[in-house]
Amino acid sequence: MSAKILSGKEVAATLREGIAAAASACTAKGTVPGLGVVLVGDDPASRSYVSAKEKACTDCGIYSQEIHLPADAARDDILAAVEGLNENRDIHGILVQLPLPDSSIEREVITTIRPEKDVDGFHPVNVGRMVLGLPAFLPCTPHGVLHLIRHTGVPLAGAEVVIIGRSQIVGQPLAILLSRKWEMGNATVTLCHTRTRDLTAHTRRADIVVAAAGRPGTLTGDMIRDGAVVIDVGVNRIPDASRKSGFRLVGDADFDSCAEKAAWITPVPGGVGPMTITMLLHNVVQAAGGVVVSDR
Ligand code: NAD
Repeated sequence: MSAKILSGKEVAATLREGIAAAASACTAKGTVPGLGVVLVGDDPASRSYVSAKEKACTDCGIYSQEIHLPADAARDDILAAVEGLNENRDIHGILVQLPLPDSSIEREVITTIRPEKDVDGFHPVNVGRMVLGLPAFLPCTPHGVLHLIRHTGVPLAGAEVVIIGRSQIVGQPLAILLSRKWEMGNATVTLCHTRTRDLTAHTRRADIVVAAAGRPGTLTGDMIRDGAVVIDVGVNRIPDASRKSGFRLVGDADFDSCAEKAAWITPVPGGVGPMTITMLLHNVVQAAGGVVVSDR
């Protein structure tokens, strides 16, 4: 293996120091940053994501409050939970853990969150502001990826970046942020998806490849050039009888073959995941009026 491990855990730990300091400064001025979480149903992955976010809040001096509704909760009850958090003065940021058991109401639930409390950055107002380059809550996973790339020291200006996956929460916003004229952008971005004709032709010329397809083995070592940076956003559960849980987590990139050629590669777990949570904490403190000094 020649690649250096791009540890999200380590980069996140440094960023969290700045976030905790900003949270403490807010608290000293009388405002404890607060996150309200709405969890619907008992999906184990969603439960574990929410628990990780709540623990991270506690560790950084952020108050968190969870509203847990049953999987068959009525649309009105979910909207009422969000409305309650909108009105709650102790809550500065609201997170509705997705996917909801009934995905058809997700758009309506997200747009019910007040934009100034939309710390996931999914509300159309925040998406629009982000696209226009106006101050906005940046979506957490793309924002975390930007910080990881910055940590490598590989210059983004003029870099060829290939993103695999065009979802509204990862690939699309990441393409916008990376191509924006700002200190974390100025890259030449190619956004690949299921209709891309020759994925390898794109990934082979990339300085930086971001895999966010949600499919193990989407990126293999023969698809990248020597010295590339590989950011693996994918989190996939695959059966593993040797584990107590019966599964293990793998990314979208074939780690071993990519690590042979890459200069940097993120592990799964321990890569993008901790960064996503960190950028959520960042947004909550920002929503409470705090200024994170380590930012940008
Ligand atoms: P999604 O299913 O909404 O989107 C996947 C995208 O990948 C689609 O646009 C599709 O066109 C594209 N795609 C799929 N297979 C492809 C292929 N073979 N070639 C080219 N494009 C292909 O997924 P998402 O919500 O963006 O999440 C992607 C992955 O990232 C998932 O594994 C998810 O669990 C993970 N994720 C991780 C974090 C984190 O914090 N670590 C956050 C969000 C998502």
